Amino acid sequence: MIAEKIIDFKKSLPLDVQLIAVSKTKPIALIEDALNSGHLDFGENKVQELIEKHEKMSKDIRWHMIGHLQRNKVKHIASFVHLIHGVDSERLMNEINKQGKKNNRKIPCLIQFHIAKESTKFGFSIEELKSIIYENKHLKWENIVFKGVMGMATFTDNKTQVEQEFKQLKSYFDEMKKLIHKPNEFNTISMGMSNDYDIAIKNGSNMIRVGSSLFGARH
Ligand SMILES: *Cc1c(COP(=O)(O)O)cnc(C)c1O
Repeated sequence: MIAEKIIDFKKSLPLDVQLIAVSKTKPIALIEDALNSGHLDFGENKVQELIEKHEKMSKDIRWHMIGHLQRNKVKHIASFVHLIHGVDSERLMNEINKQGKKNNRKIPCLIQFHIAKESTKFGFSIEELKSIIYENKHLKWENIVFKGVMGMATFTDNKTQVEQEFKQLKSYFDEMKKLIHKPNEFNTISMGMSNDYDIAIKNGSNMIRVGSSLFGARH
């Protein structure tokens, strides 16, 4: 059932939009069912849960860390994580780079921008990112691959506001792509969730993170 749902949902998406099925809080049995769709990209927001699921499940799964990541937990996921969506500070970048080196890999990351009105949401401002790039700080993070940007809109029914915030993120992406040293690798805009993925796609998203629409509400 869940597999069919995922297949149908993917059919409804434009071909260049990638789906991350957000399986946080959902049991392994349900994710096993989802795997029958052939879908392999799953997102979790808690390190402990991510590690447990990775250990117990097929190693073909591409695990996306979509939540706020604490520096002291990077070491637990560095060997296998497919993409870290929420990179929101220089200190976190330093740590990811260090753990990437230890694991002899380049860890793919998205730069999280703060686009919402809520101050509780995480992320850089464009000014902070520009100063990092102008000072060439990013060049020292040799074990990180910067794949693009990620952001979360304000939790609101005001679609105009959500749209403005997504447009903002798209413009940050465009600016960054011009400045960053390997623009070809910088190609991902992770924006849009169950409630707003349609608005996100209209405004340039090519990676959506969808949980409750696929797996049902979380408790
Ligand atoms: C939970 C979560 C999602 C998915 O939210 P839904 O509303 O269930 O689709 C997407 N992105 C992040 C960062 C999340 O924490």
